Amino acid sequence: MSDLTPDAIRAALQDHLDPVIGKSLLEAEVIREVQVRNGIAQVQIELGFPAAGYREQLGESIRGTLRTKLGVEAQVQVGWSIRSQSVQGQLQPIAGVRNVIAVASGKGGVGKSTVSVNLALALLAEGARVGILDADIYGPSQPRMLGTTEKPRSPDGKVMLPIEALGLQAMSIGFLIDEDQPMIWRGPMATQGLMQLVFETRWQDLDYLIVDLPPGTGDIQLTLSQRIPVSGAVVVTTPQDIALIDARKGLQMFRKVEVPILGLVENMSFFCCPNCGHRSEIFGAGGGDRMSEQYGVEVLGRIPLDGRIREQADGGRPTVAAEPESQMSAIYRDIARRAAARLAHGGLGEDFPQISIADD
Ligand code: ADP
Repeated sequence: MSDLTPDAIRAALQDHLDPVIGKSLLEAEVIREVQVRNGIAQVQIELGFPAAGYREQLGESIRGTLRTKLGVEAQVQVGWSIRSQSVQGQLQPIAGVRNVIAVASGKGGVGKSTVSVNLALALLAEGARVGILDADIYGPSQPRMLGTTEKPRSPDGKVMLPIEALGLQAMSIGFLIDEDQPMIWRGPMATQGLMQLVFETRWQDLDYLIVDLPPGTGDIQLTLSQRIPVSGAVVVTTPQDIALIDARKGLQMFRKVEVPILGLVENMSFFCCPNCGHRSEIFGAGGGDRMSEQYGVEVLGRIPLDGRIREQADGGRPTVAAEPESQMSAIYRDIARRAAARLAHGGLGEDFPQISIADD
């Protein structure tokens, strides 16, 4: 086609909505270069988040749009560059870490630690350098979930080197104390100890540090979310109303300290019978959606209640590491990409349904 120009290609992609980014490619400013060579459109996309498991699908959908709108074939290259996003207040970023994502829950037992480690592994699988900091002093479960009891080394008696496990850099209070030793830290001592873990670990060139916060929304959690330089937060909940009430407090806590909320993860959302495949919403349905509407936050994804998730996490090889190509890993990877996309490209665009923000 002789009248094919870069401008015509850009115009054709103007309304191309990307379901992971949540806005159009143009609005998200991810179209890096557009050229025409020998009548073929060449498009270079640079995402702000890792997308090894999504690049092909995105390329295919862009090719589809250009075929439909302009009747041309296209070569599409999808790459990414993960930049550091701003943190709250006047805080200094952590050395060696581009972005901190906090994972919180209104109460214990909703699967926050399991979601944290699988999100970290999912970002790794998507192509990022990732670390995990287990800040859950009351029940540090990352050593078990990462299948390691190695003690961190210190090269100089001041900083600690993170443990390498399953491809992640990891630090946990659980590496420093015995599992059966009761955790008697309270209030200021707990936060001080945790801040040491955050700042005195020598993280190495991380795109993302996932921080598994202690469950709840008390003083320690509030202090941590004020003092750890966080770029965005993910709140984990189960679908029951009672858990949602607690999750709401989590959202309010991050609002108070001006940390952007990347979205909600609904864990143990439904159960698929392993024998007949029947799907049942045993804890009720729609809770995450209602909260999403009320608070203007997105549900990043829903994870089923599945015995394998528990067995794999508790056995030291969480689902995304144990079965990277499984349906369940695909869910975690989708959630991870969405969270990282919100961080890099902001909230949902105007082309998507807008949700009003209401406080209690
Ligand atoms: P929290 O950090 O919120 O206290 P955990 O991540 O430790 O919760 O999870 C509590 C228990 O539930 C663990 O034994 C974990 O393996 C299990 N679990 C978490 N998510 C799921 C799930 N989607 N399906 C089945 N078991 C799960």
